[in-house]
Amino acid sequence: MELFIHLHTTHQGMPRIIKLEEYNSTLKDVNLILGEGLCSNIYTIGKKHATIIDPGVGNWANPVWPQLEEIGIEPENIDKVIITHAHHDHASGVFIILQRTNPKVYIHNDDTKYIASDLGENLVKVEEGDIIETELWPLTVIHTPGHTEGGMTLYNQEYSLMFTGDTVFAEGLYGNYIGESGGIHQMVASLKKLTEYKTDIIMPGHGSPVFKDADQHITIAHQKASRKIN
Ligand SMILES: [Zn+2]
Repeated sequence: MELFIHLHTTHQGMPRIIKLEEYNSTLKDVNLILGEGLCSNIYTIGKKHATIIDPGVGNWANPVWPQLEEIGIEPENIDKVIITHAHHDHASGVFIILQRTNPKVYIHNDDTKYIASDLGENLVKVEEGDIIETELWPLTVIHTPGHTEGGMTLYNQEYSLMFTGDTVFAEGLYGNYIGESGGIHQMVASLKKLTEYKTDIIMPGHGSPVFKDADQHITIAHQKASRKIN
């Protein structure tokens, strides 16, 4: 089993689709669309009633639909979009999705002020402990501020998997906390919170997922961030 996706293999300047099942059989029907340029990772869960986690930047290089159709997700198959935090490289692609279909869009309450007025009735505000059902398994909202006020991580306990947005990445990296909406103390507290969950798999907002022993990556991130405030 390979533990990392090699992000620099042949790349034609187009978003690439990666079937995560090939890395961990738990992730059947979970796909990663690797964005091109300044674009977040885009994850798809399921096919008939799909959930999209972070639709990406939504620019000409990241039009989303060609990749969704290649996966087998047509407009009528999209039930939900979840935005881990309201930065444009993760969130703006939702407007490309909304041009062709009408899913609910889930954002943490503390990040909706940046985007709520553009989403109208599609918006569903969520907070700590809320459960979002998907075609495959439920995801619990863990509020993880630090990168933004309303950053969230989505967790499934049964399979010990997490979608971590820009809070924590592979190899003990964590999100930046500079700017009006972030803060190092919040980031450290959020990373500590994530160490308290059993986690095998993390699927972050940028870079490769971790397919095994992800707890260790979170622990290292927490230790490194803690040194910034001690
Ligand atoms: Zn971000």
